Amino acid sequence: MAVAAERLGVLEAADPELAGLLQGELERQQNTLELIPSENIASPAVLAALGSWLTNKYAEGTPGRRYYGGCEWVDQVERLCQDRAQALFSAEHANVQPHSGSSANMAAYMALCSAGDTILGMDLSHGGHLTHGSPVSFSGILYHAEFYGVSPETERLDYDLVRQRALEVRPKVLVAGASAYPRTFDFPALREIAREAGAALLVDMAHFAGLVAGGAHPSPVPYADIVTLTTHKTLRGPWGGMILCPESRAKDVDKAVFPGVQGGPMLHAIAGKAAALHAWTQPEMADYAQRVVANAARLAEGLMARGLRLVSGGTDNHLMLIDLRPLALTGRQVQEGCDRAGITVNRNSIPFDTASKFNPSGIRLGTPAVTTRGMGEAEMDEIAALVAELIHNVGDEAAERRVALRARALCEAHPLPYG
Ligand SMILES: *Cc1c(COP(=O)(O)O)cnc(C)c1O
Repeated sequence: MAVAAERLGVLEAADPELAGLLQGELERQQNTLELIPSENIASPAVLAALGSWLTNKYAEGTPGRRYYGGCEWVDQVERLCQDRAQALFSAEHANVQPHSGSSANMAAYMALCSAGDTILGMDLSHGGHLTHGSPVSFSGILYHAEFYGVSPETERLDYDLVRQRALEVRPKVLVAGASAYPRTFDFPALREIAREAGAALLVDMAHFAGLVAGGAHPSPVPYADIVTLTTHKTLRGPWGGMILCPESRAKDVDKAVFPGVQGGPMLHAIAGKAAALHAWTQPEMADYAQRVVANAARLAEGLMARGLRLVSGGTDNHLMLIDLRPLALTGRQVQEGCDRAGITVNRNSIPFDTASKFNPSGIRLGTPAVTTRGMGEAEMDEIAALVAELIHNVGDEAAERRVALRARALCEAHPLPYG
């Protein structure tokens, strides 16, 4: 692994203890099947930008309007990143400074409403995110949070029910987007509901930004007042966040990011985001987004064919949720069994789950990382067989060993891009 070896070499000489830990994590990533849908594998170009001397620079403000001297090069880096984001998503304005998806959301609320105002988001246990109004998050502490959920029959959003809730609670901000919803969103319907309720529409596309970038999911940009995203999930960039909006909201958004929520921008991260956005101008990336979705559909079919029930009966995007209730298993049991076999998944609540959040009844899996490693439909059939075997034989050590060997073989055939 030349890319990894070079980096580890520098670290090894300066700090062998830390180098050893990074080596361990590299081997874990190489040798396990990553099915957590929010994770991905950043390219060597992204790592090079991230690991650069841009981390040395203070540049509070925006390009051309900084509170510090010496910004002539970083101004160009940030502008390049903004231009690429605007072009890729057809957005009038991009703020590329948010350190994460959560800080992007914090700034978005600050730009759209005031403390104490009502926000209406998707219920966390139905797929929503902590920053959509959970009482343990700033979003539920600073704002009055109300929720909508999926329909009990279809386990999908019923937009008539969302409208009913919106007209009941009259939120200042209607929030759409999720961390564990396997279906596409209807943005024209959400726009219309927001209009009827007198709310602003905030779409959080943290999970599916890469699918939008590659044309594998409808874009919220023409419909939302503000769109937030993360850059490290399906978008395949460095850890970070981003905000897109029309020109009319640019000032409010920029002010909310700095000085509202953050101090100086992380220019090394912004350079990493620019490198990731550049990759999306290549046809391979549109193809990547299509393959992520095709792989998820194939994996879902494979799991259902082996007797597993998926929430809402399948997936339209990059992720799916297995309902373990019919098998009387818990998410934790299955997650731990998968870990022992070298397959990384995460336990997750499913709609109308009565089990505790700490040991919920679902398993969430997705295809972004394995697709980045070049796996296709044949590998999805194999992964479906492996996951189903583990679930049907929870705690059976012989089964875990058999699955581990096959999972390892898939990983060896599809190395990380750090060679
Ligand atoms: C991942 C995610 C975020 C934010 O993530 P960070 O961990 O703060 O980067 C926000 N919203 C949704 C829907 C997410 O899935």
